Amino acid sequence: MPLRAVRADITTLAVDAIVNAANFGLRGGGGVDGAIHRAAGPELLAACRALGGCPTGQARLTPGFRLPARFVIHAVGPVWQGGGAGEAALLAGCYRAALALLREAGGQSIAFPAISTGVYRFPPDRAAGIAVATVREALARHGEADVTFACFDAATLSLYDKELAA
Ligand code: ADP
Repeated sequence: MPLRAVRADITTLAVDAIVNAANFGLRGGGGVDGAIHRAAGPELLAACRALGGCPTGQARLTPGFRLPARFVIHAVGPVWQGGGAGEAALLAGCYRAALALLREAGGQSIAFPAISTGVYRFPPDRAAGIAVATVREALARHGEADVTFACFDAATLSLYDKELAA
């Protein structure tokens, strides 16, 4: 099944859907969220406002507006609190929810950033393990999708390469 990791700015990828590491208010922010909103244009914030937020561990779909991607799937990852607050399950929920929205929208290709590993401080190695395992399980259960893990730096890419080789 097509699963790959690349070093890329996710806003440049011409896939059916890119996933945003959003916050529960869907109001834009820094990191990958800010990059996606800048590249998509102001229509994206208007579309997000209309959704009225999204609980942690879930996701919402909007058009991609000026992005090469047709859709943005806004997934709200958990803030790391030491691991005892359900963070792993919530992070896995983001990946499952995003793949479910891709299927509902009739999309085939999707790119994920390393959700929660920036300002939300989820340990990047554990997050990569959860991302790869959850996507593999979902694809085994629900069928094929073309999945790219868009890694912003070399350290993140090497974590994903390790997980994908395992
Ligand atoms: P969170 O709030 O979920 O932690 P961040 O945006 O702070 O989200 O970080 C999530 C990950 O996205 C980090 O690994 C960060 O390096 C990465 N990132 C930042 N900008 C981009 C981008 N343009 N494309 C892909 N990944 C990005």
